[in-house]
Amino acid sequence: VAKVESGRVLLVETNHATLKAGERALAAEGWTVETARDGLEARQCLEKNSFEAIVSDINLPGYGGLELLRAVRERDLDVPVILMTSKPSVESSIRAIEYGVFRYLIKPVSNQALVEVVGRASRLHKMAQLKREALTLAGLLDTSPDDREALGARFARATELLWTAFQPIVSWQDRKVFGYEALLRSDEPTFANPGKFLEAAEQLGKVHELGRSVRTKVADAASQVPVETALFVNLHSADLNDEHLRDPYSALSRVAHRVVLEVTERASLDSVRDAPLKVKALKGMGFRIAVDDLGTGYAGLTSFTSLEPDIVKIDMSLIRGIDAQPKKQSIVRSMKNLCDDLGMLVVAEGVETPAERDTLLGLGYNLLQGYLFARPERGFPVPRW
Ligand code: C2E
Ligand code: CA
Ligand code: CA
Repeated sequence: VAKVESGRVLLVETNHATLKAGERALAAEGWTVETARDGLEARQCLEKNSFEAIVSDINLPGYGGLELLRAVRERDLDVPVILMTSKPSVESSIRAIEYGVFRYLIKPVSNQALVEVVGRASRLHKMAQLKREALTLAGLLDTSPDDREALGARFARATELLWTAFQPIVSWQDRKVFGYEALLRSDEPTFANPGKFLEAAEQLGKVHELGRSVRTKVADAASQVPVETALFVNLHSADLNDEHLRDPYSALSRVAHRVVLEVTERASLDSVRDAPLKVKALKGMGFRIAVDDLGTGYAGLTSFTSLEPDIVKIDMSLIRGIDAQPKKQSIVRSMKNLCDDLGMLVVAEGVETPAERDTLLGLGYNLLQGYLFARPERGFPVPRW
């Protein structure tokens, strides 16, 4: 057999015969194979070498495959990890996805399948590395060898310095604040912008940790505004998989009746198993649900129908300059009419000018958010009427 591959692969498996068979199959393709019998032994291999790909059983004695995957993610953002199990479960597959598994395979896995998946994983790994190099070239990302550690350290600092800005959503008719949207901020200078902070959380497998911090902050601030003022909290789609969100004793759950959870149309809900059921459970706890950024989703109205939101937020790309664009007016008007029929409240986001505001009022909108009224700020800024 011609050897086509080169590089190092780590194979973690308790069963001796399975381990040897896998090792032989991979070596025949040209891979340098290191083997480990349990998670701790695997960790020692990781200390010594870097790998093109890691293949591990989930059910290892003591230190399991999921813990291993997590440990790998803390050190290396790119290396693909393939997990195998003879006892698949929804829970382990969800956690595997959360920690960025490359493939979740159900045993028995044939040698041919093993060789194929490792070959594919290593190629995608190379592609990820090339993309990083390209980004470095473009000056967007600095990837010194310490970079992953550095990213983790910056993330930890940013989490310590995390706070949430609040921006009012006004009810124009009665000149009242309908609610405040919490927006992620950090005093760590490189993560001041929520996009960067969230991206780092995704790379480090810490989306849940970040979501929990934000929700705790919002709950802590809740007592500073009247009980009838709603608190809007943004969710990452992965947050829907976090059981902490549905924990009835969490700080935010205790004020659930005041909270609107925003789920964006921008990201797909494909990675969320049973999204409609999960959302239903949240509603049962008293949370209201909003679809955020309506008008940007690529997947038609799936989120709309599966979430049955209480509130819909129209994306600012449809609001900007609406006073001068009849086409936008007609879309935004129709959206309002539909939401009225469906019994949903509608918020227009990103209102910057009096002309945009007046156009929206003319189209029947009442709930408005944007720089015209107040920018997101520390505390709870009072809107300008
Ligand atoms: P988003 O949820 O659509 O939030 C609205 C964004 O529009 C905010 O940007 C806000 O500062 C900005 N904005 C508000 N009014 C205006 C306006 O009149 N004109 C313009 N040009 N912009 C306006 P920000 O704070 O930078 O947040 C960006 C995005 O980051 C958010 O978009 C949301 O998707 C995400 N994000 C923010 N906080 C969180 C969070 O706690 N959790 C999660 N998962 N995502 C968050
Ligand atoms: Ca939002
Ligand atoms: Ca939005």
